[in-house]
Amino acid sequence: MARYTGPVCRICRREGMKLFLKGEKCFTKCTFEKRSSPPGMHQQRRRKVSDFALQLREKQKARRMYGVLERQMKNTFDRAAEVTGATGETLLINLERRLDNTVYRSGFAKSRSQARQLVSHGHITVNGHVTKTPSYSVKAGDHLAVRESSRSSNYFKEMTAWAKTQTRPGWLEVDPDAYTAQVLALPSREQIEAQVNTQLIVEHYSR
Ligand code: SF4
Repeated sequence: MARYTGPVCRICRREGMKLFLKGEKCFTKCTFEKRSSPPGMHQQRRRKVSDFALQLREKQKARRMYGVLERQMKNTFDRAAEVTGATGETLLINLERRLDNTVYRSGFAKSRSQARQLVSHGHITVNGHVTKTPSYSVKAGDHLAVRESSRSSNYFKEMTAWAKTQTRPGWLEVDPDAYTAQVLALPSREQIEAQVNTQLIVEHYSR
């Protein structure tokens, strides 16, 4: 399945919450704050929502928030189900550990899609090596950096200023002036902002 390239604010309306897919605009001129009704002609119709629909929507919400395809989401779920512990929690932690999300949470991109582009275009190094895989799963102790040759670009100069204004989760230590981020530990559920009911996602994939 191809990656969705249509209007993203529509997705927030579909999921009934702000998913922060557009970067800075989400903080300044958010469309959802003006119009939060679901998209489509029959948006006002009231219907009884089935359990399946609830589970599907929750899964879609998480998938769209992290910008992953259905196949990637299912693979991430399968990997989470293989380890001991709460599967839903592990799933969310594994999504949070993605390299594109880590770059976004470090403040070097204003959205996860922007971060994914930075990674796939080779602007980010992990432990000194250029890593072009957005799904790379960061580990405690990993050292992320903006590639030396990319630092002089206007984009990264602007992002340094942006990164300084951002609050970061406790599992990351970022030095915007040095263009680096250190993964101090794996994220815990409490450190993940995503408002997702992981139990519903587990039920969806366990059907
Ligand atoms: Fe969602 Fe951002 Fe659009 Fe607001 S501006 S509706 S948070 S994508």
